[in-house]
Amino acid sequence: MELTGWVKNYEWGKRGINSAVAQMAMANDPDFILNENETYAEMWMGTHFCGVSIVKETGETLDRVLKKDLPYLFKVLSIKKALSIQVHPNKCEAERLHKERPLIYKDDNHKPELSIALTPFLALVGFQPVEDIIDNIDEFEPLSKLIGKDAVHALHQNRNAEGVKECYEILMKSDETVVANCVKEIAKNYKKELKQDGLLDIFNTVNGDFPGDVGVLSLFFLNLVRLQPGQAIYLGANEIHAYLDGDCVECMACSDNVIRAGLTPKYKDVEQLIASVIFEGKPASCKLFMPYRIDDTVQVFVPPVDDFAVMHVALKHTVDTYKLQIQPYGSILLTLTGVRILRLNTKDGPKEITITRGNIVYIPVEAAPEIEFLHAEDCGDDFTAYIATYNYFRRA
Ligand SMILES: [Zn+2]
Repeated sequence: MELTGWVKNYEWGKRGINSAVAQMAMANDPDFILNENETYAEMWMGTHFCGVSIVKETGETLDRVLKKDLPYLFKVLSIKKALSIQVHPNKCEAERLHKERPLIYKDDNHKPELSIALTPFLALVGFQPVEDIIDNIDEFEPLSKLIGKDAVHALHQNRNAEGVKECYEILMKSDETVVANCVKEIAKNYKKELKQDGLLDIFNTVNGDFPGDVGVLSLFFLNLVRLQPGQAIYLGANEIHAYLDGDCVECMACSDNVIRAGLTPKYKDVEQLIASVIFEGKPASCKLFMPYRIDDTVQVFVPPVDDFAVMHVALKHTVDTYKLQIQPYGSILLTLTGVRILRLNTKDGPKEITITRGNIVYIPVEAAPEIEFLHAEDCGDDFTAYIATYNYFRRA
């Protein structure tokens, strides 16, 4: 079944044709009308009720046709303006939060996320090693003044996650005016230091989008991670993060549970964030999430949860036919480049569809144990696609 994704025009998205979401939506649907002034932030592929995919042939929603929901949600994101600093609760916390505050935490599921860059991608991921945080606090005096002598001294003495937690909690709970003044002072008097630390551009960008926000000062606590296209990050439960810039494909467990703490006009739940988040620091280089290679053509990203895994197919145009082994779970394929004929088994027998950039295909349970990518007449470039599926690799 060919699908049309659901496009979301949040204001943090990239504008017009610059957005990978807009590019994909146009390639997917000839009737899609691009508005150069509109922001295109997300395209959803799956059965989530806030943006369910449509089956092209019949116009029905995917959940109606499948008569069930998929355990994962697959997306394309195009980010121009920082997304909120956030963590996602684990399954246990999600169940409790949903029970206690159903209006804020709308379901009882966890929300692990895997993001794979389509363009150079910038994100904040996890806390920096404690020594780096100490260096930052010492270097930027307005910050150490805001946190206060006692907490800074304790951090110097103990040099551990507990000390980082104390400092970060003080920062997050500080009066907005005090925080805004601190940001202002650093912006004005610490350009040289910011530049030396490679933070000047991102400091100015984030401060421009959210002037004086506490999230700007989180740059001194969290790892700034730069991904090249094809590189990935995995955000498990309680891993603090914020996407800052770039395009990616993202796969996640089906949930809306976000605990926010900055760079957002939405509700901030600082208490819960401080209670949930992992303060243990690691260097930015540890944050890359590596796939494992099945063969010359396919790599798979296997997160430590059952809800989803993502395969990356990169098929050279010189290869005539490629057979991909799959398990009997519903999968969603998104084509990025090239042209191939996809042959697969369906309830109604074998089927062939030509797939090219923007094509989204639901691969049914009946397609197992293998689908074939056949040579297309005009195959041009190498063929690349991502396939989201249930994480059966974890047990293999
Ligand atoms: Zn997130």
